[in-house]
Amino acid sequence: MVVSLVLQEEPAPQTYSPGPPDMAPHHGRLLKGTRKLKYLITGGAGFIGSHLSDRLTADGHEVVVIDDLSTGRIENIEHLIRSRRIEFVEGSITDEDLMVGVLESVDACVHLASIVGVSLVVDRPVDTLLSNVRGSDVVLSAAAGLQKPVLYASTSEVYGKLSNGALDEHADRILGAIQKNRWNYATSKSFGEALALGYAKELGSRNTVVRLFNTVGPRQTGMYGMVLPRFVRQAVSGQPLTVFGDGTQTRCFAHVYDTVDALVRLLDCEEAAGGVFNIGNDTEISILGLARRVIARSGSDSDVRFVPYSEAYDEGFEELGRRKPDTGLLRGLTGWAPERSVDEAIDDVILHERAGMNGVLEAEQVA
Ligand code: UDP
Repeated sequence: MVVSLVLQEEPAPQTYSPGPPDMAPHHGRLLKGTRKLKYLITGGAGFIGSHLSDRLTADGHEVVVIDDLSTGRIENIEHLIRSRRIEFVEGSITDEDLMVGVLESVDACVHLASIVGVSLVVDRPVDTLLSNVRGSDVVLSAAAGLQKPVLYASTSEVYGKLSNGALDEHADRILGAIQKNRWNYATSKSFGEALALGYAKELGSRNTVVRLFNTVGPRQTGMYGMVLPRFVRQAVSGQPLTVFGDGTQTRCFAHVYDTVDALVRLLDCEEAAGGVFNIGNDTEISILGLARRVIARSGSDSDVRFVPYSEAYDEGFEELGRRKPDTGLLRGLTGWAPERSVDEAIDDVILHERAGMNGVLEAEQVA
């Protein structure tokens, strides 16, 4: 039972499009020959999913996208639907009949669909838990029953407050108190990881888990709290950039094209099955440093406004001082290395914002 939404057939719009990521040959990539596969991408209308759809279709694969458009946007994949390069199914990953029907028709699944953004997670704890847990249960269980491999997208949030240097996949995890809603997200995503690996152990499912660290680039919306699109929107519209806390907290920002390249290398790598891999850039930058970089690169005369955490988030929030990945496993297995700097990501987001491609974002949501 697959419901397709096919938009009116028209040529792709001639507006700014970042295009698919670099198609250069990949050193160390373990290709499955030249076989073209059919992938299901859950959450494929979202920020990362839409770029992955671009990349897989450009590589000649077939792609089915399922998305309930709760946070994903049809604009992100409209060009792929119009040119009939993907099949789009508007529906929920919690719909078991739908998922079994779609999974039957594909070779493998990339499970990206998830509640996103610290703001949503803190504001809507029940939705976060139930949709992530139920959705991942349905997708992973149906895929296991049909013996379809799943690449499960988890998050660096599962490491919790751990911040002593670069985090590797075997590090112990330190989650905050249960009363702090932020950690619900880590709990729900950890369930998905454990289930993916559980099916790999018990049924031999060829599942792979990836932990995505901060990822940025065109099409990311600032609507759910993500810092870079918010800063860029503020800078290009002449508003102050809202730095939460004192801005000394650090993050490492990967360009989405590098993230997608890592995902594709893992999909192409037989030895990745059953493993857990960090994906992220390892160059650290403070959030105040990021704000200054955005102001400089956009040529904006905006100032920085420091916003106390108590004003920025609900009480279920807890900040992380630092978060940096150790990507040795991924690099060793696939030869991947990030190729784009944070400045390139900032420039791409500025271009995207100036071209009016970042969707609707009410002024008060960035103020
Ligand atoms: N942040 C900020 N101003 C904003 C949005 C976020 O200073 O307008 C900070 C936030 O407190 C955190 C960092 O930017 O320290 C990254 O936030 P994001 O929500 O993008 O990712 P995460 O906290 O999950 O790493």
